[in-house]
Amino acid sequence: MDGCIVDSRALKLAIDNGACGYLTIDLAALCRNYDKLSAVVVPAKTAAVVKADSYGLGASQVSKALYARGCRHFLVAHFIEALRLRPQLPGDATVFVLNGLLPGNEATCADVGIVPVINSLDQLQQWSQTARSLQRRLPAVLQFDTGMSRLGIPPEDRSAVAAHLQTSDDIDILFIMSHLASADEAGSGQNADQLAEMRRVAAEFPQYDVSFANSGGIFLGGDFHGVLARPGIALYGGAPTSGVTNPMEAVVRLDVAVVQTRTVPEGARVGYGGVHVTKRQTRLATIAAGYADGLPRSLSDRGAVYYNGVRLPIVGRVSMDSTTIDISALPEGTLSFGSMVEVLGDHQSLDDLARDAGLISYEILTSLGHRFHRQYR
Ligand SMILES: *Cc1c(COP(=O)(O)O)cnc(C)c1O
Repeated sequence: MDGCIVDSRALKLAIDNGACGYLTIDLAALCRNYDKLSAVVVPAKTAAVVKADSYGLGASQVSKALYARGCRHFLVAHFIEALRLRPQLPGDATVFVLNGLLPGNEATCADVGIVPVINSLDQLQQWSQTARSLQRRLPAVLQFDTGMSRLGIPPEDRSAVAAHLQTSDDIDILFIMSHLASADEAGSGQNADQLAEMRRVAAEFPQYDVSFANSGGIFLGGDFHGVLARPGIALYGGAPTSGVTNPMEAVVRLDVAVVQTRTVPEGARVGYGGVHVTKRQTRLATIAAGYADGLPRSLSDRGAVYYNGVRLPIVGRVSMDSTTIDISALPEGTLSFGSMVEVLGDHQSLDDLARDAGLISYEILTSLGHRFHRQYR
């Protein structure tokens, strides 16, 4: 693919930074998803999980749109993300760091007004010490492990945490939280187990409000809502619950340009390794996106893209920068150099593509590449 697109139909593409596809992010749909989730958890509030650059969709654009919609709580995973996001939001928005602070980041965190999620007694003591040395109270959230064994204060440290809070008043706990491991599986017994453990935590720390639900948790019922829901994937259009119709609206659309078409005879090998051998004369198109753009290599000889609702199967291995599709189902001449095909859109959802790739929607979103022209609606 040299020089990208020259075809006149794609002139706009060539002008738009030489990109080879359009990644369209519908901020209005994002906001409608926010409203929908907010309506389910009301009177609890709804935060926005904007870690990993808002699951690949742009933390800055997404957070500003949701702020305008009324969202005031923004959660990222790493401190570096919080440092980038904090200055972009008004002062009445709060930015939280889910993974907590690595040693040495405390003073900066306090200075720029980011709220750490404290995941251990050590971290709590460290944050208290920072507060004392700055001679002011510092805000924090306490995360408890209720059965995921990933992040958070383990059960055996709860009494020491309670004792610390009783003897020192230098930390302002905004709320306590925990994270669900199986919230997308409405029937999983782990949800009830974690809820029971969360209730024990809440009973031990009765002075604090609770935040519990992620996207899936929002649909597990009011017991899981607490005072602040923390959806991520559902905001971005991914299915919050597996096995049921997705109630969320699609936020992402991906159209990719055709860079070459050809007709090959029966018995032709397609792509690296020659793993696909045509069974008949076949019309092929090569599109300008590969695994470096977020089309997972596990889509090799699996899955499809669409053109006007017609399914065009992926044939052969997905390459780094290109993927070959079988366009025999379309009338000859329908697609040519510069035509656009749908990778994500009306005919193929995020969850469809993830299923074909053997992945989850989160992986598809967070892998979407940076060689597309990104447009926000
Ligand atoms: C990522 C994350 C969320 C959001 O999860 P979704 O399944 O995307 O809604 C909420 N809380 C915590 C602690 C997380 O790490």
